[in-house]
Amino acid sequence: MARYIGSVCRLCRREGMKLFLKSDRCNSFKCAMEKKPFAPGQHGAVKKFKSSEYGIQLREKQKAKRYYGILENQFRIYFEMAERMPGRTGENLLVLIERRLDNVVIKSGLFKSKQTARQFITHGHILVNGKRLDIPSYLVEEGDVIKILDKSKDTLVIKQVLEEANQSQSIIPSWLNVDLEKLESKVIRIPNREDITVQVNEQLIVELYSK
Ligand code: SF4
Repeated sequence: MARYIGSVCRLCRREGMKLFLKSDRCNSFKCAMEKKPFAPGQHGAVKKFKSSEYGIQLREKQKAKRYYGILENQFRIYFEMAERMPGRTGENLLVLIERRLDNVVIKSGLFKSKQTARQFITHGHILVNGKRLDIPSYLVEEGDVIKILDKSKDTLVIKQVLEEANQSQSIIPSWLNVDLEKLESKVIRIPNREDITVQVNEQLIVELYSK
């Protein structure tokens, strides 16, 4: 699968907002958005972009894609799924993406960076309802129980998770019930728009794809 291998901090600077793609560093003074809060490139600090309607809509889509680490084709597939669902397409789109397994393990505090989370999933360290599941894009359902494989618990990353358990507990969303001692997360309910914290105007994405 194709993936972005450049500097992820450049993505935040391009979108003009923190996308939280680098775990602890994102909340420290080392964050590139703290030091250089302007677009990357030679003229990024002085260049002012005049955004057209299309440009503004495009940026909202890019923000969402980059925050969740999704490539264009897959994002388009989510949009088409969202269109077929009852309710508002934009909200459906964000809720669908929020339900991705790689996002859920991060929101549960089981991992801090999307890259690590994805790596652990694809390497088979995650169980969903007792079965190994190595698909980061799996959409969780109400009642799903996500757990780290017992024999994976001795890895350095997991040990760090346990050490930082108390800190992570404070940011766990209400649609998840997490037991960090067992390294287990249960989906109590499907998230709704209010549960999604990323600052994206989904209506602009709908308008972009509707052209
Ligand atoms: Fe974005 Fe995190 Fe890099 Fe800051 S440290 S620019 S939030 S990826």
